[in-house]
Parts: sequence; structure tokens; C-alpha cells
Amino acid sequence: MTTPLKSIRKYCINDCMAGQSREVLKCPSKDCVFYKFRLGTGRPKLKQIRKFCFDCGEGTYNAVKNCKFPDCPLYPYRLGHNPKLEGRCNIPLEKRKSFKKKL
Ligand code: SF4
Ligand code: SF4
Repeated sequence: MTTPLKSIRKYCINDCMAGQSREVLKCPSKDCVFYKFRLGTGRPKLKQIRKFCFDCGEGTYNAVKNCKFPDCPLYPYRLGHNPKLEGRCNIPLEKRKSFKKKL
């Protein structure tokens, strides 16, 4: 699976600029949430992808959740979650130990 940054780059080139990477470089939409990541640098937050998808999906959770375009590079991240981290606990190890002691 790709990373959020690579997905954004791919989206910019293939879906927004019809495969023209030079056009992505010259993108005039400075207010686009992907603008500073369009060249494949930076650390995008998943909520930025979610925001973009909400704009694409008529601003409703259901429209984004039921997006009909699984080939879109942003699809795995459209709800603001990273599927690679699914099922992993995000509580730091130290806190987990102290939590166990309390039980
Ligand atoms: S930054 Fe936004 S407007 Fe510019 S190429 Fe990417 S998706 Fe399109
Ligand atoms: S994943 Fe779906 S909602 Fe998000 S940008 Fe792509 S087509 Fe739009």
C-alpha cells in the first residue's frame, strides 16, 4: 500500500492534472489543501485528505464512506484513518503498563 503523501502526489498528477506532472508544479490553486504536498514533499495529516474528500463527496460522511471510486489514490485514507494502523493500540507502552497495574 502507498503512503498518504504518495497518494496525494498521485492524485495531483493523474486525477487533477491528467497525467501532466509539469502542470502540478505550476498549479495555481494555492488554497488547495494539497498544494504544499503536491510535489511529493512534506507530511500531510490524514484529516487533510478527509477534508479534501468531504469537499469531493458533497460534504457528507456517507457520500465519502460510500465513495464509488476505489481506484482513486485517496480512497484508503478518505475517512481520515490509516488502514495500515488498523487494530493497533495507540496508547504508549508505559501508559499501558501503568494501566494494567491499576486493574
Ligand atoms: S494541489 Fe490541488 S489543485 Fe493543485 S494539482 Fe493538487 S489537487 Fe489539483
Ligand atoms: S476517494 Fe472518493 S471522495 Fe475522496 S477524492 Fe477520491 S473520489 Fe473523491
